[in-house]
Amino acid sequence: MTEPRTPPPGLAELERAARAAPAAPRREPVVDCDNLVRIFHAEGVEVQALQGLDLTVAEGEMTALVGASGSGKSTLLGILSGLDLPTAGRARVAGHDLLAMGRRERLAYRRRTVGFVWQQTARNLLPYLTALENVALPMAYARTPRRERAARAAGLLDALGVGDCAHRRPAELSGGEQQRVAVAVAAANRPRVLLADEPTGELDTAGGEQVFAALRRANEELAATVLVVTHDPLVSRQVRRTVQIRDGRTAAETLRDEELAPAEYAVLDRVGRLQLPREYVERYGLRRRVRLTAERDHVGVWRAAERPQPGGPPHGGQHDEGEDA
Ligand code: ADP
Ligand code: MG
Repeated sequence: MTEPRTPPPGLAELERAARAAPAAPRREPVVDCDNLVRIFHAEGVEVQALQGLDLTVAEGEMTALVGASGSGKSTLLGILSGLDLPTAGRARVAGHDLLAMGRRERLAYRRRTVGFVWQQTARNLLPYLTALENVALPMAYARTPRRERAARAAGLLDALGVGDCAHRRPAELSGGEQQRVAVAVAAANRPRVLLADEPTGELDTAGGEQVFAALRRANEELAATVLVVTHDPLVSRQVRRTVQIRDGRTAAETLRDEELAPAEYAVLDRVGRLQLPREYVERYGLRRRVRLTAERDHVGVWRAAERPQPGGPPHGGQHDEGEDA
């Protein structure tokens, strides 16, 4: 047994002060992935779908995930939805450790904590139930009292602009209407996180816009954190944050301010590794090794052969503006 150590007086005082006037709680990100790896084995071949992916999403954010086909987007969403397990790394969503959840916790997690919308309209809805019944079904799984279900389901359909579809079956709805009903299904149990994998992929522009508007509503009015995989530049242009995935890693981010003016960011992982956008690597001819200089308000990244000279770049802008710290 070890004696509890008495903290030095300064620390004790700080602790007392902290207890007396608690600081605003430090918000844990609602999605927190660290160095996620997912390896698939198919017919003796090993596929590294995720190769050390880092991602954090703050509560209430609406984030678009973009990236080439095969870059690992669906694999990531499969893990976040609790359907698949990573091979290594760390993934926490709303306080759940996705690698350590037991069967019961996983089931509760999938029913209450996350909601998902898949690209294939047919995968989201049961064909023999009406829209209203489809939305009420997950509420039954979550033991919502029967009297409340229909009223809440109708309210959700109204809020997402498909109130008039309540008593129709999926086959009697357009693709866009089906996907908006699917958003209502995903939001039925007030999930903290709503995941959507190319939900507008099979729709025309107008249908896609309406589904996107429904996701936005779920984000703003139902307070769900939304993570949406999309190929549609129209969609990614409308969200504040776009995360790009390349080869199973987060490669770059675009953040937009209130006026939706974009700024590019690179991802810095926990140990300080930075991936420069490919355009920069090519434009400045960076290879193998770069030279770093610590400037007053930024870090300079230089082609290794060139030596930075005091007072500016050697000839004609061969230097990078540097990354904001
Ligand atoms: P994206 O959604 O970005 O198009 P995916 O996450 O679907 O990419 O796939 C990433 C990589 O993992 C691809 O090379 C894909 O072929 C592979 N992959 C995905 N799921 C499986 C699986 N169940 N078995 C084997 N390989 C898979
Ligand atoms: Mg995919």
